[in-house]
Amino acid sequence: MEFSCIEKVLKNEPSFRLKQVKRLVFFDLIDNWDKATTLPLSLRDKLNKECSLEIDSKMFFSKDKKTIKALINLKDGLKIESVLMKHIDKRNTICVSSQVGCALDCVFCLTGKMGFKRDLEAHEIVSQVMLFARYLKSKKQRITNVVFMGMGEPFLNYDNVIESIKILNDKQGFNLGARSFSISTAGIIDGINRLADEKLQINLAISLHAPDNKLRSKIMAINKRYPLLKVLKSVDDYILKTKRKVMFEYLMIHNVNDKDEHAEKLARLMKKPLYFVNLISYNPTGDFKSSSKQRIKKFREILEEKGVNVGQRYSFGQDIKAACGQLAVKM
Ligand code: SAH
Repeated sequence: MEFSCIEKVLKNEPSFRLKQVKRLVFFDLIDNWDKATTLPLSLRDKLNKECSLEIDSKMFFSKDKKTIKALINLKDGLKIESVLMKHIDKRNTICVSSQVGCALDCVFCLTGKMGFKRDLEAHEIVSQVMLFARYLKSKKQRITNVVFMGMGEPFLNYDNVIESIKILNDKQGFNLGARSFSISTAGIIDGINRLADEKLQINLAISLHAPDNKLRSKIMAINKRYPLLKVLKSVDDYILKTKRKVMFEYLMIHNVNDKDEHAEKLARLMKKPLYFVNLISYNPTGDFKSSSKQRIKKFREILEEKGVNVGQRYSFGQDIKAACGQLAVKM
């Protein structure tokens, strides 16, 4: 799915070809050039030989069929995972990986345990979306949202992530609206600052998970380099520039960050008009457990009482290890 390869092959073709091919790849969602019957046979053969559209992958379905995990084999033998979540309201969200593994090693996250292997290329990010777009097309459905919440830290692979979004956003191509994309970051300030200056209406989410430096540094080592208040300052600058709301993800981890006092501290930080807190029940891995339903309810009530915008996220795909933070591939 390397578009630069396709552009190279089309270099000596008439100029309408590129538009035609973009339509075949991103709208008709062909997975083999043999299906591109509007193209001359010789060109089809050349494209098949040089720029294969095949995505080497395997899919796993959750019992309720609402979550599908794809394991994708990359050209160099490394593997990544991406997840499709089918919501009741007909939204189809795909959760993509931005890196193979992750360097941040947050204590509660399985991807961190596999270490960092390499950044993904823009086309490898796009391929994850194409794979599920093709699948959904066969069911007469389409992708409505793309979230960078799979493996890796998107802002440590900034250029390729933004390039992939631009490819998917291209009106002549996949044409997914900018507002349909969300980037989730553990708080890489340089990335937040750069995004503020892009003229792209995409959504920003911050993985907060703790209301003070002491606890945050304990569970997310990256907080030592990019401390909480500095992250929030860059978010405020981002909001000033973009006028867009920002989502703060707060994992509810049993006995770690879920006490009343945490909620009270969090409320003091989060009471701002364009801040939205999303409480997420933790998908159990290793030593950590999720907070109970009652605990999450109480935590939420404290935030609400203090006037914080707060919601809760439904967790998908635990039975196929496809939930956030469970994406980790054995090498
Ligand atoms: N590195 C980025 C994006 C990938 S992780 C980030 O940190 O935001 C996507 C989200 O999943 C993050 O909020 C991360 O903290 C969360 N997560 C990690 N492990 C999890 C788990 N076991 N259960 C639920 N969410 C988890």
